[in-house]
Amino acid sequence: MCEFCHKHGEGRKWYLEASNYSEDLLSDVRRRRFIERFFTDPGSIRDATSSIGTIAKLPRLIRNAVYRAAAGRMKKIHYGQVVPLEEIRQIFGFVNSIVRVACMCRHYTLGAEKRFCYGVSMAPAGGYLGDLVRGASGRPVSGPYASGLEQMTREEALDAFEDHERQGMCHTVWTFHTPFICGICNCDRKGCIAVRAITEHELPTMFRAEHVAVVSPDSCSGCRKCSRLCQFGAIAFDPSVMKAVIDPARCFGCGICRSMCSSEAIRLLDRSEVPEAAGLW
Ligand code: SF4
Ligand code: SF4
Repeated sequence: MCEFCHKHGEGRKWYLEASNYSEDLLSDVRRRRFIERFFTDPGSIRDATSSIGTIAKLPRLIRNAVYRAAAGRMKKIHYGQVVPLEEIRQIFGFVNSIVRVACMCRHYTLGAEKRFCYGVSMAPAGGYLGDLVRGASGRPVSGPYASGLEQMTREEALDAFEDHERQGMCHTVWTFHTPFICGICNCDRKGCIAVRAITEHELPTMFRAEHVAVVSPDSCSGCRKCSRLCQFGAIAFDPSVMKAVIDPARCFGCGICRSMCSSEAIRLLDRSEVPEAAGLW
């Protein structure tokens, strides 16, 4: 279990606790302001990206200290965790509304509107985010990320997530002043700043999933489809046996490789069952 499970889930998976999505947590004024700023200020992504670039140029020891401090701050405010599709289904089973919004990372990195991000709420009709966009909160917001808020049924949202999974994107939950969760994203290295921060700069922005993927060599046909889509570079190919090999120390447990494998050679294990990965978050 990651540290959020201990702090915010009483030893269970914190992102499966409905209380961490509750409207009660939204009575916190600082949290509301943070959400408003998040959806209205394109400059925050630009500033974060340029800070990461500046810190990356520092000497290694200083850089690592700065990254640790930055990760500690982010854990209090806006931090993520990778969650496989079966647990996204569980989350969609207890939230009362799901809305799709434009991805601010892709808006910045690709200069294009990509609708890969979802707001979830225990309240109907988009909850607080819906109220903000409609002006019902008294502080209407607008802008590239809040425009075109699409309300979706659970079934429509799950179909969309299955589609994102087929495109190789991993699913991540995000806090808005921890432990409150109201965002679920679909991330890849190409467009997602949080994944890039991890893979290019070793800056922690999210926890790994509570799972790790393993290959059953007897079932693997050696097609290599899985390795092409792993966003974390965790899958190698062993030419001596013509099989895929997953490095548990690099695996984030997203399950995308499992979906890609038509031979059903990949399964997800609980992280605690894999000694090399059990303490890695
Ligand atoms: S997709 Fe499946 S069959 Fe193909 S290399 Fe990966 S594990 Fe093996
Ligand atoms: S090996 Fe599979 S489960 Fe692990 S990070 Fe890569 S795609 Fe995700």
